[in-house]
Amino acid sequence: MDGTDPISPLEQALHAARALVLADLVAREVAEADVVSMVEESVAQRRWWVEQWPEGAGFLAGLIAQDVQDSLLERYGRWPLCPVCGSGDPHALEVEPELGPDPHWVCHKAGVKVAAIGGLGRAAGGTPSS
Ligand SMILES: [Zn+2]
Repeated sequence: MDGTDPISPLEQALHAARALVLADLVAREVAEADVVSMVEESVAQRRWWVEQWPEGAGFLAGLIAQDVQDSLLERYGRWPLCPVCGSGDPHALEVEPELGPDPHWVCHKAGVKVAAIGGLGRAAGGTPSS
């Protein structure tokens, strides 16, 4: 059993961030194969980034979420759509802080925090039933 390196804290942070973003993609039903590869691409780039700046490990989920959001905007459209505002133009949630710990999805229109990154599946408005 010798010679097995423990998983580094940075790898753990990357893995956790990847899982959070994937959970939000699944919650919004866009976790298709090419979308998952967008996440992998972002994780690969952010691995390099966080190796240069290990203090940024806590910011990874927010950064990867924004990377994936940008990629989706080019290929599919806005994501994730705001579940809070019932009327008006459909709009995407934004990550706040853009570069900081404890990132959340926020709606700037309503001025509310909707969910933590990874928590979209539990956010209000997911399944309207009336
Ligand atoms: Zn909104």
